[in-house]
Amino acid sequence: PDFLSQYGTEALCESALEKVRWRDGFRCPQWGHDHCTVFRRGQQPLYQCSACHHQTSLRVGTLFQASKLPLTTWFLAIYLITQAKNGVSALALMRSLGISWRAAWRLKHKILRAMQEREADRVLRGRVEVNDAYLGGTRSGAGPPERDPS
Ligand SMILES: [Zn+2]
Repeated sequence: PDFLSQYGTEALCESALEKVRWRDGFRCPQWGHDHCTVFRRGQQPLYQCSACHHQTSLRVGTLFQASKLPLTTWFLAIYLITQAKNGVSALALMRSLGISWRAAWRLKHKILRAMQEREADRVLRGRVEVNDAYLGGTRSGAGPPERDPS
């Protein structure tokens, strides 16, 4: 319910994305101008710079850029993927999001790549503790772990 109240409609997702992209208000990606007119072309809002008339959208330069899926689908997918301890299969995403398996697979891999790129520069230091994770198991082809004979 919390997620849906925050990101349950396209307008809520657009507003959230706008706040993240232009924290201090609109910035023209071309020249840095700070005034624009917003109008809708099809489903998406289009931002036209008042000074140089450069047009941009909220999605340009984000992982949503080339996608026709609504932001509600993307945001829900991000939520499901980041909340799952064991990962989410494309099949599970397909069912939860009501999209094709192919679309679910593509979306999942874009999100995972974005998460990986974001974390790429972070290096763990000092004592590292892992909690509530699934580690170990059997290596494929290795058989069960050896028992201590005593
Ligand atoms: Zn401009």
